[in-house]
Amino acid sequence: MISFFLTTRCNLNCIYCYNIEERKKLQERSLPLDIAKAGIDYFFSNNSSRHIRFYGPGEPTQEFDLMRQITEYAKLVGDGVSVEIQTNGVFGSAVKEWILNNVNILWMSFDGTPDIQNYNRPIGGKYPSAPVIESNVQWLNKNKGDRGLMVGARVTMTDRNICRQKEMVDYFYKLGIRYIWTNPLFPAVGTIPVCDDKQKLSKYSFDMEKYLDNYLEAYHYAKEKGLFYGSFLICNFDGEANINCRACLPVPHLTPDGYVSACDMVVLGESAFHMDCFIYGKWDNNSRQFVFYQDKIAGLRNRTSDKMLHCIHCEARLHCGGYCLGEVVNETGSLVGQKPTTCKAIRYLLKELGTFSVPYEYLHP
Ligand code: SF4
Ligand code: SF4
Repeated sequence: MISFFLTTRCNLNCIYCYNIEERKKLQERSLPLDIAKAGIDYFFSNNSSRHIRFYGPGEPTQEFDLMRQITEYAKLVGDGVSVEIQTNGVFGSAVKEWILNNVNILWMSFDGTPDIQNYNRPIGGKYPSAPVIESNVQWLNKNKGDRGLMVGARVTMTDRNICRQKEMVDYFYKLGIRYIWTNPLFPAVGTIPVCDDKQKLSKYSFDMEKYLDNYLEAYHYAKEKGLFYGSFLICNFDGEANINCRACLPVPHLTPDGYVSACDMVVLGESAFHMDCFIYGKWDNNSRQFVFYQDKIAGLRNRTSDKMLHCIHCEARLHCGGYCLGEVVNETGSLVGQKPTTCKAIRYLLKELGTFSVPYEYLHP
């Protein structure tokens, strides 16, 4: 896929936003349309995939016109284009209608029952977001007909919802949601690795054991009800690979400041600090072309679970691929670093769930 990081503008103030500090310090920026179009030309001439995706660093639907124009251009120059959005779900009727007719996969960042959603993800820091999201999800599910639109939930797990996963399954089920991916909370990206940031480390907490117990219970419960209830930790259990994700290929994520990033966690290129290893190219306005950094590409491609010392003998190496490099680099400062608690959790889940014989229908957002 090619991803467009459309804008730094956002209408929510989520309490754990992974890049809120980074965005606050910046002047609002959006991806220039000419760079987005050049990105499509480049991607379509070098890949067979025609999947385009809209993502942060802020809320993509806040740049509705831009999103519409990019999609129109992609459909003009490519056959069989599919469209994916990751959104906070807080948008009005014009966006809603456009999504109904143009989008194939819509992931809503949605943290569960209204009390949790409203606490974690308030509109403008003040107003509840659950009523707007509920109404948008229900409207899309009611009207989608045979358009092939999937509306799923992408849930950030925090101390607030860890023990309420079964209840969350029931709540989403009632809204018509059938695909849910959960993500354990990770520390936000700043200017230094988390391991060197004592303040951030002291504020971060996540009870992995509690998450796993409740996750497994909710996973089986959801399965009985006909829902898919995934975890970021099992995102490669549906096949074999010695790499974790698209960041290892890499594929382009165009940033609002004109860079090419490999990862969702690195949304601006100019000052990527300790995350700079993910910035593998830049738009050159003079030549009107993308310039790629071959050393960075080689570094990302070289990160495989059959080469990293901590992975070589791990029973999960082909069903994990060395875990999310974005989180690993952010937390350890190294592309080949390790998150030991997460590794233990992945191996435990592999033992409990085994592998899946068919690929997941919808990949982790
Ligand atoms: S490295 Fe992690 S955050 Fe980045 S794209 Fe891959 S899975 Fe997503
Ligand atoms: S679980 Fe840990 S040690 Fe095993 S492959 Fe994944 S990152 Fe490597």
